[in-house]
Amino acid sequence: MSKGNILIAGGSGFLGSYLCDYYVSQDYFVDCLDNLSTGSKNNVKHLLNNRLFSYTQHDVTKKLPKDISDKKYDFILNMASPASPPHYQRLAVETLEVGSQGTKNLLEKALKDKARFFHASTSEVYGDPDVHPQPESYKGSVNCYGPRSMYDEAKRYAEALIYVYHEKYGVNTTVARFFNTYGPRMDPHDGRVVSNLIVQAIKNKPLTIYGDGTQTRSFCYVDDLVNGIIKLIESNEHNPINLGNPGEFTINELAEKVLSLTGSKSKITYSPLPGDDPLQRKPVIEIAKKKLNWEPTIDLETGLQKTIEYFKNQSL
Ligand code: UDP
Repeated sequence: MSKGNILIAGGSGFLGSYLCDYYVSQDYFVDCLDNLSTGSKNNVKHLLNNRLFSYTQHDVTKKLPKDISDKKYDFILNMASPASPPHYQRLAVETLEVGSQGTKNLLEKALKDKARFFHASTSEVYGDPDVHPQPESYKGSVNCYGPRSMYDEAKRYAEALIYVYHEKYGVNTTVARFFNTYGPRMDPHDGRVVSNLIVQAIKNKPLTIYGDGTQTRSFCYVDDLVNGIIKLIESNEHNPINLGNPGEFTINELAEKVLSLTGSKSKITYSPLPGDDPLQRKPVIEIAKKKLNWEPTIDLETGLQKTIEYFKNQSL
């Protein structure tokens, strides 16, 4: 007997796979859906023979498979979307569709099943922020017609849809806004700054910094984020909540840390900053602290060390 049923869309992605692990470990039956556009079955291969786990290759913008549609879920988690700029730019229409039609299909299922619905949103809803740090009440500075708009607007549309399904149809929804998560199971070819710099340093290749490296990000280690997601799912909260590490670093500082922790001989190269790249980003996490009793515990150096160890054991 399992404790209940949980559907995880994007379950074999970087973050989704940790949630599959957690809910299987808690005796839930986990149905993992993924179209493998950026996820990897490798992330859940250790679960494939588990009696509490089932994997279905499926694109959530399409009608749910009959066996999933016929089953009743207690929780539905929407972790499905490309998340790295090179991926969402390559899969631009797909990114818009998964945020819109994909989210709608999962909300309809949550409505039918009376399930608790969790959605992975992002600090990108704040765009290139002119308020710093960013509280949940900040409405953002987003370009709706530009190189990041397919991701930012898809995620903003998804939040709007969730608001309607909650307010109008009473779906038990909850939303987290993630800030630059990193850690083991990141795809080495994901194209994000943490994976790029670590892989380059390990291979003694030049570290690629875009712009002058003074732009900032706040990096959250994956275990911290996953703890926050679980607390949020278990809470009664409905409004979007920031989940991120408020430690803020320039990209130059990140590169220096990666060089010293890997002992790499790599040099740094600079190339132009891509359009609409946010110059600063740092979460206010007072709501998460107060309502969820959550805050990150893993500092950047410790997290980078664990991530470097992971990448060293991958074929890069
Ligand atoms: N970046 C960089 N070198 C890279 C990849 C990214 O300097 O090889 C920069 C990027 O321009 C941005 C920051 O690092 O300013 C974080 O980029 P990432 O793609 O990780 O996340 P996002 O921009 O979505 O926060």
